[in-house]
Amino acid sequence: MVYNFSAGPAMLPVEVMQQAQAEFRDFNGLGVSVMELSHRGADYMAVAAQAEQDLRDLMQVPDNYKVLFLQGGGRGQFAAVALNLMGKNAKADYIVTGQWSKSAVAEAEKVGKVRVLDGFAATESGPRALADQWDLDPNAAYVHYCPNETVEGIEYHFVPNTGNVPLIADMSSTILSRPIDVSKFGLIYAGAQKNIGPSGLAVVIVREDLLQQACPHTPAIMDYAAMAKADSMLNTPPTYGWYLAGLVFQWLKRQGGLDAMGERNKAKAELLYNYVDASDFYSNNVNLQARSWMNIPFQLKDDSLNEAFLKEAKAEGLLALKGHRIVGGMRASLYNAMPIEGVQALVAFMDKFAKQHG
Ligand code: PLP
Repeated sequence: MVYNFSAGPAMLPVEVMQQAQAEFRDFNGLGVSVMELSHRGADYMAVAAQAEQDLRDLMQVPDNYKVLFLQGGGRGQFAAVALNLMGKNAKADYIVTGQWSKSAVAEAEKVGKVRVLDGFAATESGPRALADQWDLDPNAAYVHYCPNETVEGIEYHFVPNTGNVPLIADMSSTILSRPIDVSKFGLIYAGAQKNIGPSGLAVVIVREDLLQQACPHTPAIMDYAAMAKADSMLNTPPTYGWYLAGLVFQWLKRQGGLDAMGERNKAKAELLYNYVDASDFYSNNVNLQARSWMNIPFQLKDDSLNEAFLKEAKAEGLLALKGHRIVGGMRASLYNAMPIEGVQALVAFMDKFAKQHG
């Protein structure tokens, strides 16, 4: 058995891959692949509509929100959010907690005035906790943040309160990992390649009253209002990715929905954190309040063992554990598709490695 701990593109549920394989060349007895269906035909339209409905059910998306299936991944949305939402004032607040929220700033600065707010609270020593209060601009078009920083393994376990200013969340690496209250957000977006499906696709959930303020030079394929009007089919959508996302949503429903996923993901993360914390061979230096359930970086006490660790892990079917170059060390991504058995296998391997090299 192989377990893929990649931060993204990441593993998809085995049953989803099997179903996709079974119907790869003959979807619903049509004798062709979903990939070969016209997006305007009734067969594909049904696939697309079902996927949207399943996502709405899973996340309990209120009726006054549009759900869009777009192209250009998470980063495409860094630009699209700014182009669509900055409005006349052309200013927004960005809470920065790591690499991805920082990258979102760089894109938004091309569109308007961005105020960068430090996402961390001051602490005298040790890893900093996430702040829950900021010096927000009441006239900003929105406040943007990244609820789960994939690179650093930093996650919010609360939703920031931004008063009347719409809250925009890059949920690329946390969407569908637990229940959330969509009504607290103006807009949620996510690149698909962690908890949704193949890369390239982006899902956007946007409150309808935010749809009428796009910059005039917003490209049509990034224009939320135009895309909402066209049911995300202003141009040819990424049809196969959308179909696979739909299979993932159905799988999530069969697992018991987001309550069940939240419990599972918490248990998986605790298993690994508890082991790391009890060990004097491994460490994780994220503040306890901000530890991610999805991406868990950890360091070996001796960096010179990193290569051996990765090589031996791979030989045991534990793949893609190398940490992001900015953080170094290791990173285990435990998205929805990772079963608890994968984390158990990882912990058993880590223990064996520590005993051999400690
Ligand atoms: N935002 C977050 C939190 C991510 O983890 C990533 C990618 O890993 C992105 C944005 C960028 O997504 P994409 O590569 O689809 O543009």
